[in-house]
Amino acid sequence: MKYRTMIGLEMHCEISETKTKVFSSAKNDFSEYPNTSVRPLDMAFPGTLPTVNKQAVRMALMMSIVLGCKQPKYLYFERKNYYYPDLPKGFQITQETKPAPIGSYGVFEYECNGKKSVRINNIHLEEDAASSDHYPSGSRINYNRAGVPLIELVTEPDFRSADEAVAFLENIRSIYQYLGISEADSKKGQVRCDVNVSLMDASLDENDPKNWGTKVEMKNVNSFGAVREAINYEIERQTELLNSNKKDEIEQETRRWDEESRTTIRMRSKVDAIDYKYFVEPNIPKFKIPNSWIDEIKNSIPRLPSERKEDYINNYGITDYDATIIVKDKRVSDFYEECIKLKANPKKASNWITTNLLGNINKLDLEFDDITLTPSMLKELIDLVEKKEISSNQAKEVFTDILTSGKTPREVVKEKGMKQMSDEVEIIRIANEVLDENPEAIEKYKKGRTNIVDFLTGQIMKKTKGTANPKVARTAMAKEIEKR
Ligand code: ADP
Ligand code: MG
Repeated sequence: MKYRTMIGLEMHCEISETKTKVFSSAKNDFSEYPNTSVRPLDMAFPGTLPTVNKQAVRMALMMSIVLGCKQPKYLYFERKNYYYPDLPKGFQITQETKPAPIGSYGVFEYECNGKKSVRINNIHLEEDAASSDHYPSGSRINYNRAGVPLIELVTEPDFRSADEAVAFLENIRSIYQYLGISEADSKKGQVRCDVNVSLMDASLDENDPKNWGTKVEMKNVNSFGAVREAINYEIERQTELLNSNKKDEIEQETRRWDEESRTTIRMRSKVDAIDYKYFVEPNIPKFKIPNSWIDEIKNSIPRLPSERKEDYINNYGITDYDATIIVKDKRVSDFYEECIKLKANPKKASNWITTNLLGNINKLDLEFDDITLTPSMLKELIDLVEKKEISSNQAKEVFTDILTSGKTPREVVKEKGMKQMSDEVEIIRIANEVLDENPEAIEKYKKGRTNIVDFLTGQIMKKTKGTANPKVARTAMAKEIEKR
C-alpha cells in the first residue's frame, strides 16, 4: 500500500529580546550565574502577583500577524496545572485555545522547492519553566529560566515530508531573527519542537480526519537536524508496522528522540496523559487589544526574508539559489545590503558571500560573529580585482587572510608583495617560454586539439605564481601558438 505522511509541529521559541521576563521584572537572561535573574514571583513566593510584559505581548502579536492569524479582541491567560520540581507555582501561565490565544486560524506560505502553505492552528504566549541541572552529587534547580517569555506555535498536520517540516522551521527561525524577537538559537536551547507523525492510506481523502492514521508525538526535539532524523525514522518504523499488518502497534503515544541510538523511544501512552485542568488565570485581568495597536504593530514590521529575496533577484540579478542562501541568516543579509550601499558590484558581492564567506565559515567552523571582515573591506577587495591590481586567485588568498585577521585587503596585498601582472609584453615573453618548453603541445594544437591552449595558459599562471592576469595570459597564448 502507498502511504501519505502527515506531520504537525509544535514549535517553542524563547523570546530573547525583551529586557525582563513575561510576568516579573527579573532580567530576561538565563545565561547569567544560576539564580541571579530572579524575582520572588519566579520562585512562587506567597503574595506575589504577575504583571504582563507589554513588549512580550507586542512581539507575540507581531508573530501572529506575520503568520496570517486572527488576533483576539481581548488578551487572556490561563493556568495549566501540573507538578514538577522546575515549576514551583504548580502551574504554568499559558494560553489554551479557549477563550482565545494570541493568534489562531493562520495560513503561512514558506519556501521548500517552491512555495508551500501550512495552516497555523494557533500561536500563544506563555512562560518557560525553571531548569534542572544534574550533577553527580545531585540535581539543582536554576530559576533564571523560570518566567522567560515563550511563544508556542502549533501547525495543522500539513507537512508531507521531513524536508517540508524542516524548511518551515528554518523559515520561522529566520523570521524570529528578522523581527528582533529572538536569536532562535537551538544551541542555546531557545528553540524546541514537538513533532507529530502519522501515516495514512494515500488513496483516501486527506481532508477527512477519519482517514488519518494514529499519530505519534516526539517531545522536545532540540535541533532541526534531529527533527529531520526523527521524522524519517518514525516514517520508516510506522511503514514497517503497517506493512506487516501490525497497525495496532502504532499507538497514540509520546516518544522521544534518542541522540545516541538515533531512534525514537517510547515515553508514555497518550491514555496516561494528565488532565491539566485549565482555567482562566484569575490574577491577570482581561485586556482589550485595540485595533489601533494591531495597526501600529503591522506598520512597524520590517522587511522579511521573502521580501528581501525578491528584491535581490529582481534588482540585483542574483540567482534564486544565492538569494535564498543570503537571506537565511539576517546577519549575512545585512552584510550584503551594506555592501550594496557601498556600491559594490551586487553579483560579485553575492558570489564572495555565498562561496567564500559562508564556505570558509563552514570549513573553519567559525561563528559569524568571529569575523573581522567588514562590508567595506569586501568592497575594497572587489575593487582591487576590478582595477586589475591583483588577480582573482590572489584575491582568494587575501580573502582568507582578512576574514579573521582584522587587516584590510590593501594591508595584506602590501604585506605579501602581491601585484597582478598585466604587462602584455612580459606575458607574451613568458608565453613563448612556455611554448618552447612544450613542443609536443604545439603538435597537438596543429592536429586540432585547440583546447590545449587552456593547459598552456595554466603553465603561464604557474610560472608567474598566479600573478598573471588570466585573460591577458589566455589571449597572449592563443595568439602566440598560432604563430608557430
Ligand atoms: P494533542 O491533543 O495530542 O496535543 P492536538 O490535536 O492538539 O493533539 O495536535 C497536536 C499536534 O499534532 C498538532 O501540531 C497537529 O497538527 C498534530 N496532529 C494532529 N493529528 C495528527 C495526525 N493524524 N498526524 C500528524 N500530526 C497530527
Ligand atoms: Mg497539544
